[in-house]
Amino acid sequence: MNILVVLEDNNGAIHRMSLEAIVAAQKISSKLKSEITVLAMGRNAEALALEASKYELNEILKINSSSLYSYSSDGYATAIEQIILEQDFKYVFFGHTYQVRDYVPKISAKLMRPFLADNIKMSISSGSIEFTKQTFNAKLLADIQTSDSGLYLVSFQSASFSSDNLKPGYSKIKKIDITIDETQIKNTYDEPFQESAGGVDLTSADIIVSVGRGIGEADNISIAKDLALALGGQLSSSRPVVDAGWLSPDHQVGSSGQSVSPKLYLALGISGAIQHVVGMKGSKNIVAINKDPEAPIFEIANYGIVGDIFEIVPKLIESLK
Ligand SMILES: Cc1cc2nc3c(=O)[nH]c(=O)nc-3n(C[C@H](O)[C@H](O)[C@H](O)COP(=O)(O)OP(=O)(O)OC[C@H]3O[C@@H](n4cnc5c(N)ncnc54)[C@H](O)[C@@H]3O)c2cc1C
Repeated sequence: MNILVVLEDNNGAIHRMSLEAIVAAQKISSKLKSEITVLAMGRNAEALALEASKYELNEILKINSSSLYSYSSDGYATAIEQIILEQDFKYVFFGHTYQVRDYVPKISAKLMRPFLADNIKMSISSGSIEFTKQTFNAKLLADIQTSDSGLYLVSFQSASFSSDNLKPGYSKIKKIDITIDETQIKNTYDEPFQESAGGVDLTSADIIVSVGRGIGEADNISIAKDLALALGGQLSSSRPVVDAGWLSPDHQVGSSGQSVSPKLYLALGISGAIQHVVGMKGSKNIVAINKDPEAPIFEIANYGIVGDIFEIVPKLIESLK
């Protein structure tokens, strides 16, 4: 049961969600002795392969092809399809990123093999693996049993596994050549979507104070700013706050914003919609303040305070000072 993990380039470093996909593969390998191959390609293939070489893997394949220097779903799908056809993989793992959503369905259609997208967990038994994904806006969970025969393309939701659990090791890099007929690359792309577009880099923050629609209006953001300052943290928000123009888009956390995993994430007046939660559920400690005791954010919070942010936050700031 061999596994291929495809690495995504995040400005010369392995994308955090690809590292999480490696953790998933390592979990299977430790139980079922599967072999793990990772694939590095694109303009920064060398840097990605070098970074991967410090993890416990069986092999790193590095494709050097100028046809893949700029991302295109046709180019990526063609390259990965060739690797899959040459070797005997049971699973191909990806992080569920925007790129993956773009090109993996193409591989799935070409190979006529299923793409099990956006899984949040898996259970491993001898021979086959069951993957679980959320459906109906995360109200239901679907367990998908894979069969013994055939290949499966599988992606994992952000923070389904923690990159803190990566097993270190020393892995060899193998350079491989593939042929890409550039006339088959029919699509051209603009600059990639930037999860962190502006000056606010939330991905490396240890403490984040995040505001939701519950903050009421732009002028009230100042209390969240003061709390972030008192804690030495960064300010972020849910999407309605950005849509209302109260904070710039680079503050947004969630499926169409940044993915964060700080030591402390304080959610102020955020309900906990799935599109927000996917961007912050990897936080080590989640503290939620919300006046609705039924708010879904409390399902994932380590500490929950049912109450009004305008009463609680000033008291928090006062005691921190
Ligand atoms: C394709 C798509 C992509 C999306 N991407 C994102 C994304 O990246 N990020 C994102 O955040 N959302 C995203 N959304 C929107 C998402 O579905 C939710 O609408 C959004 O997350 C809700 O934000 P919220 O929790 O701030 O607001 P609400 O859901 O309106 O919640 C406000 C909360 O504040 C509480 N509250 C009100 N007043 C107070 C008070 N005084 N004290 C305490 N609590 C109070 C309320 O009880 C409520 O729970 C996306 C949606 C779609 C369709």
